[in-house]
Amino acid sequence: MLGFAPDLSCCMECGKEDGDFSLTVKGGLICAGCGDFNSKSMTQECLHVLRYIQGAPLGKLYHFKMDEALFQEVSQMTGNYFRNFVTQKFKSLDILG
Ligand SMILES: [Zn+2]
Repeated sequence: MLGFAPDLSCCMECGKEDGDFSLTVKGGLICAGCGDFNSKSMTQECLHVLRYIQGAPLGKLYHFKMDEALFQEVSQMTGNYFRNFVTQKFKSLDILG
């Protein structure tokens, strides 16, 4: 909605759509074959949730469940990504950790 959503469809470099990815500050995914992988890589489940969130209508965003570990991963990925683009501090982001 703010215009800086990442492209979660495929690797920004090679176009690969499945596999292990990392979310980059360039605005999208980078696969294990194209990027320098480290602790920033995400699980398949996390990518699935992020793709769902990005495509779901607002009214459906709070109508799914995930376990605590996945919630923490999704929160960390979205929080880190958001903080790369927005320097202003939001109290609402504090709940994301
Ligand atoms: Zn790639």
